Amino acid sequence: MQCSQCTRQAIYTFGPSNAPLCLHCYALIVQINQQQVNQLDRMANQALQDMEDVVGAPRGTISRLPDPVIVAGPTQNHNISIQNASVGLLNTGIIGRVDADITAINKADPALANAIAEMCSNVVREGRLSDAEKASLLEMLSVISEEVKSPKKDRRRFAITPILDQITKVVGTIDTLHAAWQKYLPIIQAALP
Ligand SMILES: [Zn+2]
Repeated sequence: MQCSQCTRQAIYTFGPSNAPLCLHCYALIVQINQQQVNQLDRMANQALQDMEDVVGAPRGTISRLPDPVIVAGPTQNHNISIQNASVGLLNTGIIGRVDADITAINKADPALANAIAEMCSNVVREGRLSDAEKASLLEMLSVISEEVKSPKKDRRRFAITPILDQITKVVGTIDTLHAAWQKYLPIIQAALP
């Protein structure tokens, strides 16, 4: 049976008329529903805060509904573990791209692939980084992963070194991340020509 919304094959039915839907169109409905639930949660939290303010209770006296957490399981990423991590506003497209690069790098240099994967996982899990800091670190790691996919002689050391320096600067204030970077940075540097 064909999807009622597009030309793909239907595998679900939806609504009172049992409209046939394909996986893609059904996923859109699930996504819309989730966004509506998230919006209702935010409104409920606002109402709870208003109540606290009205009675003069400290904010947070009444427990809030948890923030929506976008979790992509290990089935989506093979190398970067973002399980149970709040990826919030992070661009999961970048994570997916780095993940695919890591799979490619792993064939030629498993230690290098592991270094990048571990660093990405550490960044995503680090609660002390802001979303903006996480996004900037992942973007920089994605440039590195793209670069070291090339044969070693074609890799651009002078383009990558400032990025490595910048990562060192951003992770410098967070002890565990800094320690991880000190472990993986030499592996990445050794991969440059
Ligand atoms: Zn469809």
